Amino acid sequence: MYWPRSYHAWISHCSYWVAQSLFIILSIHVVMTIEGVSSDSSDISPQEFDVVIIGAGPAGLAAGIYAKRAGLNCIILEKGVPGGQVLTSPMIENYPGFPEIEGMKLMDIMAEHARRYVDIREGEDVLRVRSGERFQLSTTSSKYVSRALILATGATHRKLGAPGEDKLAGRGVSYCATCDGFFYKTKEVVVIGGGNTALTDALYLHSIDCKVTIIHRRGSFRADKHLQDSIAERNIQMLFDTVVEEILGENGVTGVKLRDLKTGVTQDMVVSGVFVAIGEIPSSQLASELGLNQDPGGFIIVDQSFRTSVPFIYAAGDVSGGIRQIVAAVHGGAAAALSCFEDLVNPYYRKT
Ligand code: NAP
Repeated sequence: MYWPRSYHAWISHCSYWVAQSLFIILSIHVVMTIEGVSSDSSDISPQEFDVVIIGAGPAGLAAGIYAKRAGLNCIILEKGVPGGQVLTSPMIENYPGFPEIEGMKLMDIMAEHARRYVDIREGEDVLRVRSGERFQLSTTSSKYVSRALILATGATHRKLGAPGEDKLAGRGVSYCATCDGFFYKTKEVVVIGGGNTALTDALYLHSIDCKVTIIHRRGSFRADKHLQDSIAERNIQMLFDTVVEEILGENGVTGVKLRDLKTGVTQDMVVSGVFVAIGEIPSSQLASELGLNQDPGGFIIVDQSFRTSVPFIYAAGDVSGGIRQIVAAVHGGAAAALSCFEDLVNPYYRKT
């Protein structure tokens, strides 16, 4: 080992090592950038597509299949894993061709089908989209340029807004019966809501041996008659005209405070789990940033061809409202892709 003997020698020795370290750091940075490993996407050159589809639920997957088969160069960006909200549905009984199938299984099949045609980039959240001659997208790990966009960003569960809900989320409060139901086997649970999700969740929880009570703020359900009949056949308990005013517990749910809307009487009910199934809110933040027309609930307004108010942007699935069914999302995705094809390619048979 060389040890400098004079002050100047020390300075030049240190300078040598500083320069050496800087060189090594710079080299690593260059290699990471070339290999696309850099955590900062600002220095990555954008990949170009005819259309970028955002979201890999039923609408996005159908759009991918149809866009690619029409000849468009496209990609699907998905911030999580493919499947969307259907993944949390215990059982699907109304998607033609599948009399009875778990939500997760149906979406596995659909995603596998889409992958035959189109690349699905999982875990890639779209952070920003800039309009212009082309759309410029920045995601958590890359950049894209496209001539058109299909928004299939879906919706997320609506929160109850009752005291205790946030504090006890994940500690007895759940928004996904299939994900969390297992932990409440043989225990008392409530399902809040009166739509298809609430009744499907209640049936699932009952099937895995939970003691279920459905709490609904009206005097009747809005869910499909078939589901209502199944609930009645199984003698699942129901409390109508009742709201949950508070979710009780400190480190875990111990009960709910209920109020009867007809009598005004309140009472506490001892439960270990609260499953909130009161509808959805659209994931339409990108739509707002892009200036798309939205209805008062935030759902993107589309025409019959799934075109939005901005040229070359299309929307399908739950984010565009309407009949929120898998079959409708698939229709919307396919129609959006075909409209996109018409607008980009302007085929002779569409010319007037
Ligand atoms: P939904 O149909 O909008 O029903 C939401 C339910 O929650 C309604 O009964 C509503 O009561 C109640 N609710 C809303 N806000 C509430 C609040 N703050 N406090 C208490 N209750 C509240 O929602 P969903 O059941 O999640 O279904 C969403 C869409 O997906 C629907 O189009 C549905 O058909 C579809 N879906 C289909 C299937 C299937 O076909 N297999 C399964 C699941 C979902 P009100 O009735 O008083 O408004």
